[in-house]
Amino acid sequence: MKRNIFILILAFLLTVLTGCSSSNTSTSDQPATNTESKASAIPSVSQPVNQESRQLNSQPLESRVKVHFLDVGQADSILVQFPDGRNMLVDAGNNDDGPAVVEYLQKQGVKKIDYLVGTHPHEDHIGGLDNVIRAFNIGQVYMPRATTTTKTFEDVLLAVKDKGLKIFTAKAGVTILDQGSLKVNFVAPCSSNYEDLNNWSAVTRIQYGSTAFLLTGDAEAQSEEEMLASGVDLKANVLKVGHHGSSSSTTRAFLKAVAPKYAVISVGTGNDYGHPHKETLAKLTNAGVHVYRTDRDGTVVFTSNGKNITVEKLGSTIKPRAPDTGSTVAPVAPVALAGSAGGYIGNKNSKKFHLPSCSTLPAEYNRVYFKTRDEAVSAGYVPCKRCNP
Ligand SMILES: [Zn+2]
Ligand SMILES: [Zn+2]
Repeated sequence: MKRNIFILILAFLLTVLTGCSSSNTSTSDQPATNTESKASAIPSVSQPVNQESRQLNSQPLESRVKVHFLDVGQADSILVQFPDGRNMLVDAGNNDDGPAVVEYLQKQGVKKIDYLVGTHPHEDHIGGLDNVIRAFNIGQVYMPRATTTTKTFEDVLLAVKDKGLKIFTAKAGVTILDQGSLKVNFVAPCSSNYEDLNNWSAVTRIQYGSTAFLLTGDAEAQSEEEMLASGVDLKANVLKVGHHGSSSSTTRAFLKAVAPKYAVISVGTGNDYGHPHKETLAKLTNAGVHVYRTDRDGTVVFTSNGKNITVEKLGSTIKPRAPDTGSTVAPVAPVALAGSAGGYIGNKNSKKFHLPSCSTLPAEYNRVYFKTRDEAVSAGYVPCKRCNP
């Protein structure tokens, strides 16, 4: 098993390395060439650019970009629907969210995910990617050149391999789409060496007409600084706030450069990290930004016609959440916990323990399982205030 993981990760590195021959100085890293070489690498997605532009121009009335911030609790998952019917998915929540993300996409009529982005290899971002890869026809997969040895990451690589897909390097300067009024490109990561996986986050900017969206994954201050230094256009009407509203992201300078009207914080109720942090909320409020939060607003959908943006709050579409939520879609059956018949789940970070049914369970890699309450207490863990185990 260990050997399999090693081989997969090696294959991953080799694949992404070949797509990354130039260094990080290449902010203007021939986007057109990049797109073309990708298209030729995967014949099924190679469409003449001209034809696509014509499609875009021939439907000006219906043209819109829709960006769905899915309520996946303490995690990220963002569906982007382009005017010509193509789709992009950025992250897919935690492992347990996979089936619900698939269901939400199917309800939106998604058949193919033309562009699939895994921002960085943390479970709360790539957890559900394997489900998504197996459930849909997939075009191009983008991930940064960062690896971990977790089962979650291995599952993603396996799904990619089983589908015969390739992984393209997500990094600053890579253009995903560039057609008339629609442009989608990566503005981070700008470097190729980070201590913190969060700073590896692929940051996607979507420009449609005079409107723009910036999806930052878990990028923190270091990456924000690099983006600013790169001189790339960061302006966006809608900012997906970095790292679930943690104070380690959203520096003043970055916020000023993005100058959003709306911000979305993808966050779970009562999470163990205290996200979103007060400082971040204060910065956003002081800057006059209208903040949406998936823990309060559920799934939030923005629609841009290229000039104006409208916002819709769908409430909880994915997970059973705290009381008073509108139930647009029947909640998904609670996920059974593998490897723990009842018992308690501790969070290695916060030293809190939970009932398996708690809505704020830690990510898999952060869990420790206890058979009894006493076992948890004697290990120095304190009961979660939410589920009162
Ligand atoms: Zn995260
Ligand atoms: Zn992360």
